[in-house]
Amino acid sequence: MSRLLIEGGTLLGLTTPDDVRADSDLYAEGGRIRATGEEARRLAADAEESGAPVERMRARGHWVMPAFVQAHLHLCQTLLRNGPDDLELLPWLARHVWPGEAAHDRWTMSVSARLGIAECLSAGVAAVLDMGTVEHSDALFESAAAAGIRYVGGNVLMDDPATTPSFLRVPAEEGLAETARLHDEWHGREDGRLAVAVQPRFAVSCTDDLLRRAGDLARDRALVVHTHASENRAECDLVEERTGMRNLAYLDAVGLLGSKTCVAHAVHTDERDFRLLAERRTAVAHCPGSNLKLASGVCPVREMRRAGVRVALGSDGAACNNFLDPFREVRLAALLPRVREGGALSAWDVLRMATWDGRAALGLEGPEGLVAGATADLVILDPEAGWSLPDDWSREPWGTVVFSMGRENVAATIVDGVVRYRREDPMIGGLRPSPEEIREAVKALRSRMTKSENA
Ligand SMILES: [Zn+2]
Repeated sequence: MSRLLIEGGTLLGLTTPDDVRADSDLYAEGGRIRATGEEARRLAADAEESGAPVERMRARGHWVMPAFVQAHLHLCQTLLRNGPDDLELLPWLARHVWPGEAAHDRWTMSVSARLGIAECLSAGVAAVLDMGTVEHSDALFESAAAAGIRYVGGNVLMDDPATTPSFLRVPAEEGLAETARLHDEWHGREDGRLAVAVQPRFAVSCTDDLLRRAGDLARDRALVVHTHASENRAECDLVEERTGMRNLAYLDAVGLLGSKTCVAHAVHTDERDFRLLAERRTAVAHCPGSNLKLASGVCPVREMRRAGVRVALGSDGAACNNFLDPFREVRLAALLPRVREGGALSAWDVLRMATWDGRAALGLEGPEGLVAGATADLVILDPEAGWSLPDDWSREPWGTVVFSMGRENVAATIVDGVVRYRREDPMIGGLRPSPEEIREAVKALRSRMTKSENA
């Protein structure tokens, strides 16, 4: 059983804006926080006295916060980073992403996943909701298991011959059977850190039959549903032409909106959609970096939250962001509403979205705050690293984290009470692929992409 004592940090629990405890210890055992303050030191001493090893981390002058959650990610696209920069969603998918995804084998998928997970861990992320491609999803779970990160994801479902290319299309029956197989094989492993989600790509790429059966499978097995919706205007038009319904209303009609559903983007939405999402207790993964790069638009996050919708944050894939870095997303999420009328999102709001709201969107349970019983998924921030000083002007640290800090401030990332990243080890114990391995894998992808283009 893991035992970790974090000594003398400032604890930022993010339950209320004044949930700040200076110079406090934190003790975690078996993945959960057992105690803070005096009690933490006492429990650690007791454990050591009885002969159990306790890892000690000095955190004096550092800030200890709940780790970030990536509520929308495509690890299979990390190797597709730095492709075309100026396309909108549908041509970008058709020309770069779909052929690239189809070119994966198990090894390139593993390189792509390890690169993305390493980037996440080194930026303070402990948990991800990840959409894979149609094949090689075992490599995603293997990589997540090796990294020790919390991973909810699996294969993507896409079966509509009218809208998807033959090289990346899988009949409903087969796609759902693959999700069920992954569930049998991986769900709940690594002390519960691995979970399978049911993932129809988006309404455009799926038949009505597939969407309905995906909803059934998710309900039968109590799984998270992860999909995209209303990201791009042309996508919304396609769904409306085909179904006569607005995108989210259609997803609801086929039984996909519920309290275990996370919808990425929801950019082109209005009051009717907000009401529906709030009623179904469906979460939205806001991806501001991706929405700007793909010229998708600006998600009305403020209005959504006001209507009672839970909004989390995600980077989307490296192919359209190009970072997998929550610091970039919290900054954009806080800044974007300021160019529209009607108020801002505060630094505090966006940090909640990037942490506790993200955990809820991933279906992760447990109390909020750095309190006994809470999962020990933590990030340790060093305010003296990078370029974020001085931090003396405000009594609250939230603005410093959102507007001044970056991944360079991350001293360590802890998942389930175990240190999975420390800045002294940027290769993360061999998890991060070398530049040679990355280039080799991209070479293999490119040669297969050319072949499929010529076929
Ligand atoms: Zn996406």
